[in-house]
Amino acid sequence: MILWETPNKEELLESLVSMGYARSKKVLRALEKVPRELFVPRELAKYAYVDRPLPIGYGQTISAPHMVAIMTEALDPMECDKVLEVGTGSGYQAAILAEIVDPESRGCGIVVSIELVPQLSFFAKNNLERSGYIDRVYLVIGDGSLGVGAEREVFDRIIITAASPKIPEPLVSQLKKGGRMVIPVGSQEMQILTIVDKKPDGKLEIRRDIPCVFVPLRGVHGYSYIISGKDI
Ligand code: SAM
Repeated sequence: MILWETPNKEELLESLVSMGYARSKKVLRALEKVPRELFVPRELAKYAYVDRPLPIGYGQTISAPHMVAIMTEALDPMECDKVLEVGTGSGYQAAILAEIVDPESRGCGIVVSIELVPQLSFFAKNNLERSGYIDRVYLVIGDGSLGVGAEREVFDRIIITAASPKIPEPLVSQLKKGGRMVIPVGSQEMQILTIVDKKPDGKLEIRRDIPCVFVPLRGVHGYSYIISGKDI
C-alpha cells in the first residue's frame, strides 16, 4: 500500500523550483510540458507527480523528478545539441532532453537513447509515441557502457542514468571537445553525481557534485555482464 501524498504537476514543479532543483527556464519548461504520467505503468499514473522513483519493471525505475531536474540542469543541453542518454528506462528523461534540444520539433537537435533491456526499450517506444516525442528520440538497444559504437567524437552531451563504477572510456571518446557528460560514479550502494567537461584541447575537467543512488550500469564498463538474466 502506497501512502504518499499525491501532489499534482503544479505542486511538484513549485517544490522543484523552491528547492532549487529546477533553475533554468528551459528545464522548467520541459518539466512542464512532458507528461510524466505517460511514462509510468498505467496503475502508477496517479503517483506520477510524487517526487519519487517509480518501478517500471525488470527491477528498474523511472528516476525521481528532482533527480531528472538536477541532472538536466547539470548537463545543460543546448538547442540543436546531439545528446546521448545511456539507460532509456521509461523514456521520460529522453523526452525532457528532446524538449530542450528540439523544442519545436524542427529536427535540429537529436537525442539518442540506449537501453540494455529490450523490453524496456519497447516500453519507452510506446511511451514516446503516446506522448508525441518519438520523432525526436532515436532509440537503440544495446550496451550503452560502450556508447553507440562510434569511433569518433559525436555527442555534445552524454547523460548516464545508471550507477557506474568508473567513467567509461568509450563514452569519453564519443564526447565532443567542448562537450559535457553527467554520470553517477561510485559503488552500487551510493554514487556521486559527476560532471565531466571535455575541454577544447581534449583534457578532462572532472567535478564531483552531490551524492545520489541509482540502479547499476551493466555491461562491459558497468558492474557485470548479464547472461540469461543472471549476473556473473
Ligand atoms: N532514464 C530513465 C527514465 O527516464 O526512465 C531511467 C533509467 S533507470 C534509473 C536505469 C536504466 O539503465 C535501466 O532501464 C537499465 O536497464 C539501464 N541500463 C543499465 N545498464 C545499461 C547499459 N549498459 N546500457 C544501457 N542501459 C543500461
